[in-house]
Amino acid sequence: IVNVIVDSKEPKDKLLRGILTADFDEDSCLSRHQSSLYRKPLPYKPSEYLISKLRSYEILHRRCGPGTRAYKEATKNLGHDDDNYASKSVGECRYIVWVAAFGLGNRILTLASVFLYALLSRSCTSWLLPHDFPLMKHIDGYNMGYSRCYGTMLNNHAISANSTPQHLYLHILHDSRDVDKMFFCPKDQTLIDKVPWLIVNANVYFVPSLWFNPTFQTELVKLFPQKETVFYHLALYLFHPTNQVWGMVTRSYDAYLSRADQTLGIQVRVFTRRASYLQHLMDQIVACTQREKLLPELATQVSNTSRSKKLNAVLVTSLHPEYSNNLKNMYWEIPTSTGDIVQVYRPSGERFQQTDKKLHDQKALAEIYLLSLTDNIVISAGSTFGYVAHSLGGLKPWLLYRPVSGRVPDPPCVRAVSMEPCYITSPSHGCENKKRIDLATVFPFVRHCEDTRHDGVKLF
Ligand code: GDP
Repeated sequence: IVNVIVDSKEPKDKLLRGILTADFDEDSCLSRHQSSLYRKPLPYKPSEYLISKLRSYEILHRRCGPGTRAYKEATKNLGHDDDNYASKSVGECRYIVWVAAFGLGNRILTLASVFLYALLSRSCTSWLLPHDFPLMKHIDGYNMGYSRCYGTMLNNHAISANSTPQHLYLHILHDSRDVDKMFFCPKDQTLIDKVPWLIVNANVYFVPSLWFNPTFQTELVKLFPQKETVFYHLALYLFHPTNQVWGMVTRSYDAYLSRADQTLGIQVRVFTRRASYLQHLMDQIVACTQREKLLPELATQVSNTSRSKKLNAVLVTSLHPEYSNNLKNMYWEIPTSTGDIVQVYRPSGERFQQTDKKLHDQKALAEIYLLSLTDNIVISAGSTFGYVAHSLGGLKPWLLYRPVSGRVPDPPCVRAVSMEPCYITSPSHGCENKKRIDLATVFPFVRHCEDTRHDGVKLF
């Protein structure tokens, strides 16, 4: 007699519809191959073109990345003040260094943006640079005042087709000028294309702007026929929690979410210190979840329902534990009108941001990931933490508007039209014309973000 043991936890879609390569040591990173056990299958498939582009990119990375002869060649004399000393013959290997800055949500969105730009411009991104990388000591200090900052060089007429520097710094932050943000335009690309090393410091999801370069747009349409899946597919490819974080995700999921009939994620980000804010935001969360029928209403009188009770699991993430405590108390003190049960779970309450403290960042990633596994999600306006959570889950979120002058906004929230993150501070014009235009009026697939007042645009 042969006993056949079938492991019911063997994932069916280990390679996420081909977006991941099979060429990988599974035990070293369990989340890569186990994530499909925890996600609902979504109707979005990566295009064959994206898959082939990723496989070619992996070959390029192996040929050019740290540790190769090409990398050694390319770093020789890098950082020498005089560009004439620099070795320019690096063949097909060109590099983008992504600088890790700001919180985790910012980092994840910008890493995806820089990676996509690298795919489009046939560069190689490097996010784990060897410590002896020649510019390492200076990178954190780069800003608009740096002489190799691209926007600054343009303003000073210090760059032209005949004088290509060995490295350039791209400043794509909330305070960037249009000269910094427009690096992707065809005219700029003819200069930047020749530069072997690009150092990018970003804190915005600049992917929507790449569609304004006609050459990139032709590629992008082939890579992402469904335009709102850009971040979703890049994230499935790029971001895989370590075994430590994956343990935190799966333990929480199995204990609090797996048995529920319906799961709801609520991400509460507080950008003010006003004391009255807590109650306003709490009222707003309740108003939004009840109005949008994401949670059952509270009963006005006690009734005896005999039908089977549905279990709603609510995952609340916030630096501040008060929000989940209040919600939990509310559903404990008062029954729901349907008799259904609401169970509230909060993984952590760190109180304040502690970026670069390992355990703090691990908790933040575990919570972003857990939020992405819920059926529905409510997020705070303008928070990149929330943007990553909903986009990674392929979810169209409900966005809690920012309260205006301390009042609960009416309506309290809005359903987003797409699962793409918002480019919060997009440029004020396209590539063709220097005149200020509304970018949301140029292409039918780019529109204003629902949750930002000014320049924010997103793909849909
Ligand atoms: P943003 O500032 O909302 O755009 O998001 P970021 O992720 O870039 O920065 C906020 C940082 O604060 C996170 O990376 C965490 O370190 C911390 N943080 C904010 N909200 C939460 C939360 O709900 N849970 C946890 N664990 N950390 C949070």
